[in-house]
Amino acid sequence: MEKTGGKGLSLARRLYATRTLGLASGLVCVAAAMYPLDPAPWVWALMLFNGIFWPHVAYQWARRAKVPYHAEHRNLLVDAFLGGVWVAAMQFNPLPSATTIAMMAMNNVAIGGLRFLLVGAVAQVLGIGVGFLVFAPAFVPQTSPLQMYACLPLLTLYPLALGWICFRQATTLGRHKRELLALSRTDSLTGLLNHGAWKDQLEVEFQRCKRQPQGGAIALIDIDHFKTINDTYGHVAGDIVLRQLSKMLKQNLRAADVAGRYGGDEFCVILPDLALDHAAAAMDALRDRFATLGYEQSPALKVSLSIGLAAFNPAHNDAMLWLNDADQALYEAKTTGRNRVICCGDGKPRHELLDSV
Ligand code: GH3
Ligand code: MG
Repeated sequence: MEKTGGKGLSLARRLYATRTLGLASGLVCVAAAMYPLDPAPWVWALMLFNGIFWPHVAYQWARRAKVPYHAEHRNLLVDAFLGGVWVAAMQFNPLPSATTIAMMAMNNVAIGGLRFLLVGAVAQVLGIGVGFLVFAPAFVPQTSPLQMYACLPLLTLYPLALGWICFRQATTLGRHKRELLALSRTDSLTGLLNHGAWKDQLEVEFQRCKRQPQGGAIALIDIDHFKTINDTYGHVAGDIVLRQLSKMLKQNLRAADVAGRYGGDEFCVILPDLALDHAAAAMDALRDRFATLGYEQSPALKVSLSIGLAAFNPAHNDAMLWLNDADQALYEAKTTGRNRVICCGDGKPRHELLDSV
């Protein structure tokens, strides 16, 4: 219900401005066509009410309605109906009549598409019928120069206003679309790429590595004994550790590196154009820095990382095989004692590799 209210209220607000402008300029057009017909005072009163007061009445009506959206649709039908009445009252004077009908059709199609165009047309025909009964009009096939000039404000200002509103709506929709796309690719806790978005980047990097000889590496990073951290210090502290790791990744990686949250306590990084030993050194420095990090909330909390690394292998014909290599290396890091970096295929912790150089 609240959603419909929000949507209806914003529609009512949008229509308030255009209705005020459209009906005020419409009043000039209709009054010029009606003047030579010497209408009765109540007709002038109705004309003034429709041209000046109705937009405010319609807005308040929609604002106070239980479902403003439905109320606004009813108001649009009233607009169309009264438009039809004025067409008959003006004795079908060609230019004011065509202007009134065209502006209302433009309004209805812009707001409710074909369905509303048709419903509005039916309301207009009904209005013409009622106008026919009340005014018993003759057909006046002439539009005087004064009447033609009186149509100009409606013909020029109203399409401009409606066009501006449609443009603003299209811009807002475009912005929302971009924001939603970014949200759908972002992990909400850490702000890193989420699983799906990171895998898309991995595919892109795999194809690039196939085309270019520079190569690259990927790393899978898993926090050691994270369940125990959750159990001992609580999930809020666990979330802080996850955020801290993502912050460290953002701060310590190169601009070209692509970090993501693979899921749970597992993170993933693409390190383009980096030889495996350099990638291993970078990941080992990260592991080291993370292990020495202090947590204000829980000073006793110490966290270590296990990291599996894999270089691009031209023999693989699938990015998932590359990922599998990193997964194997991570598995080895976990099974050989944790708190270490293992490169795919070497089975040795990073510090042992450094010692042997
Ligand atoms: P290992 O050293 O083998 O990795 O042990 P582990 O305890 O870290 O085991 P595992 O990686 O399987 O544990 C992941 C845990 O992460 C399990 C789950 O409760 C927790 N977890 C997953 N997502 C979140 C999250 O968003 N916030 C918090 N606080 N915990 C999470
Ligand atoms: Mg873990």
